[in-house]
Formats: sequence, structure tokens, C-alpha cells
Amino acid sequence: MEGSSACVLGAGVVGLTTALLAQERGAKVTILADKFRKETTSDGAAGIFRPSPSFFIISPEITKELIHYSYHYYKKLSVEIDAGVKPVSGYFLSKINPSHVRNHLLEDVVPEYRSMTEDEMNQFPGGWKWGSYYSTLLIECRFFLPWAEKRFNERGGIIIEASISSFNDVKMYGNFDVVFNCTGYGAKFLCNDHKMVPLSGQIYKVDAPWCDKFIYGEEDTYIIPGYLLTVGGSRHFESFRTKPCPNDGAAIWSRAKALLPQLSPMQIRRQWVGVRPYRDGGVRVQTEIINGIKVVHNYGHGGYGVTSAPGTAFHALQLAEQLLAPSKF
Ligand SMILES: Cc1cc2nc3c(=O)[nH]c(=O)nc-3n(C[C@H](O)[C@H](O)[C@H](O)COP(=O)(O)OP(=O)(O)OC[C@H]3O[C@@H](n4cnc5c(N)ncnc54)[C@H](O)[C@@H]3O)c2cc1C
Repeated sequence: MEGSSACVLGAGVVGLTTALLAQERGAKVTILADKFRKETTSDGAAGIFRPSPSFFIISPEITKELIHYSYHYYKKLSVEIDAGVKPVSGYFLSKINPSHVRNHLLEDVVPEYRSMTEDEMNQFPGGWKWGSYYSTLLIECRFFLPWAEKRFNERGGIIIEASISSFNDVKMYGNFDVVFNCTGYGAKFLCNDHKMVPLSGQIYKVDAPWCDKFIYGEEDTYIIPGYLLTVGGSRHFESFRTKPCPNDGAAIWSRAKALLPQLSPMQIRRQWVGVRPYRDGGVRVQTEIINGIKVVHNYGHGGYGVTSAPGTAFHALQLAEQLLAPSKF
């Protein structure tokens, strides 16, 4: 990438990590996006580093490698005061099957992943049968996105607020050697990608600093500490909902309260709904030449974009270098 000019479409966690890595490889980078910071899906994410065992990027081997890369990328950032990355630990519980509390993508990566002790299991009411305890990282985009934008600017990056409706529009903003498409759900329209499915999710943000461990139960129930406690959740395919649904809210709260009875409605600060950029078949990290424009796609991270963004950015950069390398023939 040394000496090349790159345009990154998108300023969520995927766009910003791609932009930072491109700068580290010597590219002159411009970010083009129509939403920033609090307006992005990334901002609302709880930010726990936890891929679902079913998460998929290109192949099982590449998925593992890129998750590993992501973890170590964030681990290095955990010493930066303002980056919003810190260690966190907690519990994953199941009543249904012991395999639910295992995670083959995480077990070899994080410093500790073990079965819960009897005392640990007894903390939780409701007859849970199996449990894992592990330590991981929390990446709070509320802090990480501004930190990444600042670092990007300090390195001479250019940020342009604009909405584009085709890759040709990018030409209005410069002559770029390569364009990284990190538009999240926007890629459905930009690429006419029928595999993209909106997957909305609702959460509460709760003021409960006394809770410092994450707790996952079944039926998408999770409690994740941070600047505010994230209490979730829901998953609705084909849903673009942007306003909280009272029925979902009541169901989320009752499931969470069964897991952590100390939760009180007095502590609720807000509710939020976001649309996860889910892609059937997995994240798209792939090159394409569109009307002569060299494009590297990097979108479709579903519910695990914070976790996997540095890894897919790394892979996208490798593909860009191959695309830009002079042909030997
Ligand atoms: C309730 C909830 C909880 C979550 N919790 C977690 C979690 O704990 N851990 C985790 O790893 N993930 C989590 N996620 C998933 C995570 O939020 C997403 O995977 C991630 O934010 C996707 O990032 P992105 O950069 O691809 O998309 P976005 O953040 O949506 O950014 C897309 C960017 O592209 C720009 N863009 C799009 N189209 C255009 C266009 N045509 N022109 C110009 N700009 C355009 C937008 O303006 C924006 O800047 C959660 C999601 C939800 C909804």
C-alpha cells in the first residue's frame, strides 16, 4: 500500500479499523461516510469481544486466524487510556446443552476459559446446568470511534461527509488507487447484495456500576458491564426497526432480571435498537473491479463487527496489496 491512495467508505468500527491499518501500511487515506460516531450501528454495540461459534469469514481456518488477529490488535490498544478497550470477565450459562457454553473461536485466544465452579454456578438462580467462565476484552465504541478518528486525523487522514449511491460517485472526491467498501448494511443497496439481511436488536443501557462481570444466559439474554450496563437482547431478521418495541423491552427485562434479580427499572437510562449488518454465508472480504475501480469489500459482520473488524481489515489490506501489485506478466 506504500504510496498509494485509498478511499474507505464507512466510518463505523469496520471502516475506521480498515483506515488505520491502511495508514500503517503507508497509504494516503480518505474516509467517505454519511454517518459518524453516535449515528452508527457500531456506537450502540455492547462491544464485547465474543464471536458466535457460527461466525464465518471465508473459511473456518481464515475465521480463526482473523479472530486471533483481532484479539491481539485490541489487546495492544488496551494500554491506550482513551481507546475504550479494557479486560472483562464473566459467565456463560446453559440449561440445554453443555456445548452451548463452549466457543471454539474463543477458547484458544483468550487468557482464561474454563468450566464454572459449583460456587460460581450457585450465584445464579433458575437451575442452570452448565457454565463457562472466561476473560476477554470490552471495546466500547462510544470511546473507540472518537479515538480512532483522532488517530486517523493525526496521521494526515481526510474525512469527508457524503452519501454515495454508486461506486462511480467516489470519483467526485478524488482519484483513488483502491476503494474499501466498509458500508455495513449500506452495502445491500450499494452492491445490490441479496445476501444482506437486516437483523435488528434491542438493548437497555442501565446505570449499575456494581455489576462488573458479563453474564450470558439462553434466548439471547446478556448483561455486559461498560460505561453503562448493556442489558439485552433481541434478534429480528428482516427488521429495520429503529424505535424500541415495548413488548420486546418487557421480555428482555424479565429474562435479564431472572438472571440478575438486583436489576431495578430505576437504573434504566435508555433503550436502543440497532440493525446488525447480517450477511447470509458470512462476512464478505473480497476484491472486485467495478467500472475500472479497484474495490475491496469488507462488510456483512452481523452481530460480531466489533469483535472481528481488525481481522477483516487486515485481510482486506492483504487483498488490496495483491490487487495493486504490478502484474509480472
Ligand atoms: C444490539 C446490538 C449489540 C451488539 N453488540 C455487539 C458486541 O457486543 N460485539 C460485537 O462484536 N458486535 C456487536 N454488535 C454488532 C456490531 O454493532 C456490528 O457488527 C458493527 O457495528 C458493524 O460495523 P460496520 O462498521 O460494518 O457498520 P456501521 O457501524 O453501520 O457503519 C457503516 C458506515 O458506512 C456508512 N455508509 C453506509 N452506506 C453508505 C453510503 N451509501 N454512503 C456513505 N456512507 C455509507 C455509514 O454512514 C457508516 O459510517 C451489536 C449490534 C447490535 C445491534
